[in-house]
Amino acid sequence: MNISQLLERNARKYPQHEALIGMGQRLTFRELDKAANNLAHSLVQGGIGKGDKIVLFMPNVPEFVATYFAAQRINAVIVPISAKLGAKEIGYILDHSDAKAIFAHELLFDAVKELNTEGLFAVKTGEATHGWKAFDKLVSAKAAENLSSDARDDEPSTILYTSGTTGKPKGVLFSHRNVLTVAQMICVEMEIKPESRLLHMMPLSHSAPLHLFLLAGMIVGAKHVLVPTFTPDLLLDAVEGERTTHFFGAPVAYLLTAKHPEIDKRDLSSMKWWIYGSAPLSAGEVNFVQEKFRTDNLVCVYGLTEAGPSGTLMMGAEHAEKAGSIGKRAALHTEVRIVDADGQDVPPGEVGEILLRGDGNMLGYYKNEEATQETFIGDWLKTGDLAKFDKDGFIWVVDRKKDLIISGGVNIYPKEIEEALIAHPDIHETAVIGVPHAEWGETVKAYFAASRELSAEEIKAFARKELASYKVPKIIEQVEALPRNASGKILKQPLREGSV
Ligand code: ATP
Repeated sequence: MNISQLLERNARKYPQHEALIGMGQRLTFRELDKAANNLAHSLVQGGIGKGDKIVLFMPNVPEFVATYFAAQRINAVIVPISAKLGAKEIGYILDHSDAKAIFAHELLFDAVKELNTEGLFAVKTGEATHGWKAFDKLVSAKAAENLSSDARDDEPSTILYTSGTTGKPKGVLFSHRNVLTVAQMICVEMEIKPESRLLHMMPLSHSAPLHLFLLAGMIVGAKHVLVPTFTPDLLLDAVEGERTTHFFGAPVAYLLTAKHPEIDKRDLSSMKWWIYGSAPLSAGEVNFVQEKFRTDNLVCVYGLTEAGPSGTLMMGAEHAEKAGSIGKRAALHTEVRIVDADGQDVPPGEVGEILLRGDGNMLGYYKNEEATQETFIGDWLKTGDLAKFDKDGFIWVVDRKKDLIISGGVNIYPKEIEEALIAHPDIHETAVIGVPHAEWGETVKAYFAASRELSAEEIKAFARKELASYKVPKIIEQVEALPRNASGKILKQPLREGSV
């Protein structure tokens, strides 16, 4: 099986079913298939073919999905990139990925309009301009025959670039099998069916929204509701308006929506699966969200881009006793271990690094064999996440290895401090980092945003009630808001660089 066959199959099986809803458009599987086929023909005529890289720079709009499947149809490799990137970062990725084509959305065109597109097959939605072809023209061109992909499942299909918070972004290269394995996993685990209606508000340029969610729905021919940006209002309107059944979101999307003044009055009864992942949700936050969303089916997925992302799952019922954990079992087609620095499995209660093995794991970093070698131990992927098993076999992430603070030779996990500070009634977001200290090596610095001005002394006094004194932040800074990536995850690197 290859990715293209998903759409081709749905177009045969459910030609009249609605496939995509977004930006005022409603497309059936037949219409989406035709759009992808016409685009595929245009790409072939433009000299693009098997193995060529196509950069996709769009928010969650129907054109994103049509382009994605057009690329798969001709066995090209799709390179979806974050809508938040600027010209310099895009230039780097075009160059590093050896891109032959770029598809951009007019809403984002400012970021790419100055790029040198000489030699590139450049397409934009809206008007044609400066050598960029008009997307609609390519879609409405008459294509005589149906192109059909014959890609094998071990061939490359996708490159996703990491955010490059440390060093240059790395291109995570996936085969068809890698991404279809992950999609199949969610399809089975979260009961995605032809009658399901999936709400997409997290950026499709990221691995979880794209592989776990869009492709999972495409396997069975479910309906996709695409919303280009996230706001709590848009989420509530889309759930009510389209009677959606599944949502995948980062914790921040849940927390912001839970605080919406009208949430208690809104009709969320169509929703069967509320899925969160990509960052932790503490026990207190889980309880708050469950109560506000009136659900007992809040489900946690844990994983990372390099694993597809597939890792572990924690189902709704398990949250009653273990909220804050990432679950006790690996997702379908995945295995999980926690090991010490020598690669030996650690006993319950002891902290080690999570390793993952499964067909979702990437082929490797594109053109970066050294980083690939460093990331694998045999066929086990090193996640960089520190965690421990409890006595019942549930896994608790203590922190990311790169975020660990070592102060006076003692390990301090920023996540523990963040969880203590966020319990303050006026604090709505916080991030803790280590900063250099002459005597101790590193010391603890906390950033926070709050609904009112709070002094460092107030924060320290509050933290002292929960934390041992060496963990109480020594430096404290109040900010308007913390920097986040496109999927809402807090970025610590700008804090470390002092650029906030
Ligand atoms: P970059 O693009 O620079 O690699 P990133 O590492 O944040 O950024 P992802 O691969 O999306 O990009 O993030 C994976 C990481 O997110 C995991 O390694 C883990 O630290 C965290 N994570 C993902 N899901 C969960 C979860 N359910 N609970 C806790 N942490 C999670």
